[in-house]
Amino acid sequence: RHNPEIPDILRPVVSQLKEQIFTSDSFSDLDLHPHLVATLNKVLNVSTVTSVQKRTIPVLLSGRDAVVRSQTGSGKTLSYAVPLVQSLQAAQQKVKRSDGPLAVVIVPTRELAQQTFQIFTKLVKPFTWIVPGVLMGGEKRKSEKARLRKGINILVSTPGRLVDHIKNTLSVGFSGVRWLVLDEADRTLDMGFEKDVTVIVNRLNSAGSSRQNVLLSATLTHGVTRLADVCLSDPVRIQVSGPA
Ligand code: ADP
Ligand code: MG
Repeated sequence: RHNPEIPDILRPVVSQLKEQIFTSDSFSDLDLHPHLVATLNKVLNVSTVTSVQKRTIPVLLSGRDAVVRSQTGSGKTLSYAVPLVQSLQAAQQKVKRSDGPLAVVIVPTRELAQQTFQIFTKLVKPFTWIVPGVLMGGEKRKSEKARLRKGINILVSTPGRLVDHIKNTLSVGFSGVRWLVLDEADRTLDMGFEKDVTVIVNRLNSAGSSRQNVLLSATLTHGVTRLADVCLSDPVRIQVSGPA
């Protein structure tokens, strides 16, 4: 893949620079807890990082917001899930269940909510004190409410269901939230959830804790870009073209 904007005379320099930035393909060379790396290898069966993970994980570990565009199947979930778990397990004050939501992950569908929750469940295995949980339409609201009351630290939800709990069960305390992830943002907008996402973001903003925000999408439509403008603060823009 040739970038036409780079003059030929600079190409060797650029490729050398790229090599210096992306020196490793291995999770073990990222700045991660060794137990997290071991879990990636042994439980999730991944050892090498994909292109989008290589670009995104260091940015998120540095504390910046990010908007990430790369094609479906390129590995965006671990791009945010790995730095998120790394940051929560490294927190100075050890995470307690009663802290409630520290991360809110919004995905468009129940299936994705379930899948994403399962990935977090695997990733936090060595860090048993961090509790992930999932809320999604179609489940019993009452049992979800009970689980929320007990405490969910990494809260994966569809937009509508989270708004439902915010408005009707009053069981979501947002004051501890340090991470907001809007995954599959293009699909979330396609499904008509813009208003619900806005309600959630407004609630988070009025809860007032300082927060890292990530938006991931396969396409950067006008709507997605507008959502990024509203939800992210001075984000690093990461675009990966082509297959993983
Ligand atoms: P996207 O969100 O970009 O569509 P996913 O995060 O759903 O992509 O990942 C797509 C597939 O690739 C999943 O089956 C996932 O397990 C796998 N995968 C992700 N990261 C890696 C990796 N570093 N090495 C091997 N497989 C991976
Ligand atoms: Mg995805």
